[in-house]
Amino acid sequence: MKVVSMSAPEIDEQDIAAVVEVLRSGRLALGPAAEAFESEIAEYVGVRHAIAVSSGTAALHLVARALGIGPGDEVIVPSFTFAASVNAILYVGAKPVFADIEEDTYNLDPQDVKRRITSRTRAILAVDVFGHPVEWDEILTLADRYGLLVIDDACEALGAEYRGRKVGQFGSAATFAFYPNKQITTGEGGMIVTNDDRIARVCRSLRNQGRSEDGSWLFHRHLGYNYRMDEMSAALGRSQLRRIESFLEKRQRVADLYTERIVRLPFVRPPVIRSHVRMSWFVYVITLTADIDRNKLMKCMAAQGVQTRGYFEPIHKQPYIRELGIDGGDLPVTESVAQRTIALPFHNNMSAEDVEYVVEALTTAVEAVVG
Ligand SMILES: *Cc1c(COP(=O)(O)O)cnc(C)c1O
Repeated sequence: MKVVSMSAPEIDEQDIAAVVEVLRSGRLALGPAAEAFESEIAEYVGVRHAIAVSSGTAALHLVARALGIGPGDEVIVPSFTFAASVNAILYVGAKPVFADIEEDTYNLDPQDVKRRITSRTRAILAVDVFGHPVEWDEILTLADRYGLLVIDDACEALGAEYRGRKVGQFGSAATFAFYPNKQITTGEGGMIVTNDDRIARVCRSLRNQGRSEDGSWLFHRHLGYNYRMDEMSAALGRSQLRRIESFLEKRQRVADLYTERIVRLPFVRPPVIRSHVRMSWFVYVITLTADIDRNKLMKCMAAQGVQTRGYFEPIHKQPYIRELGIDGGDLPVTESVAQRTIALPFHNNMSAEDVEYVVEALTTAVEAVVG
């Protein structure tokens, strides 16, 4: 049986040569590749500073630390996201306050965010879910009016644009991630971007055991971490970044192939993309109507060799969040959407035949489930 897998990184001979070159150089950490990768990301995104770290999660943690968010603070965040967005808030002892999402884009709903603001709210942590930018004008206007900090978890959205500006330019700081299923990969890795000199300086120190730029190796100014990116990862990232436009175009092509076919199916809705954004496709997520049993449908697709994933499982329902006694609040859209969304296999080099195969498996599964 044919098997279609969820994701696949695109690694070419140049990527391999770039990593081998680092290995031959003998300089495996704290070297020129990470610095060059930072400058190239900063230039690509259009910001002053980029700080390479060991993961997207580490990037979010450092931003929360650098902004001085801590115990007693509330941070408004979606529950319809990856756990790392919420965990960064918990790592610094602050309280995540979940806000609901929009029916179409699955991003934070600015109206609902407004309802969750209290005297303890310090920040909004917005997520460009699946590579679709948040309604930045509305979020930034709210933040301005209430004096809130803004963090952009852009870990799924490298290259996405909102009204002609790249994500990463919005808020106090933004984060990117380079796990193998993201738009570009370093294996494990992440990046903080910011226009704020102080945030950049503190993040550089915190990722490197709290050392200061001018201090000695055994002088620690802050309680820091080892969140550095190694040179092999950085070299791979640089090599991948050279092909980012080609990657985004290929992903757009695969998304278009899917959408063309899926719009014709009953019971299934393709992703909704607003006209004033440029999507940077991370995953391709469809939404089922409420009468379809998602688990049955996913099983039926798996039986045909097609991997799928229920994307996302809301964070307020995860066992560790419940054990912490954090209130899920009232999140009707999140609850409804999360039971009906499925990520289909999606990567740069999916062939039209593979897309066709997945859509046929989906069609068969829908028919089987509807009965
Ligand atoms: C991938 C991702 C991250 C970071 O993930 P790492 O695996 O730590 O690199 C953070 N937030 C979101 C929304 C993500 O999708």
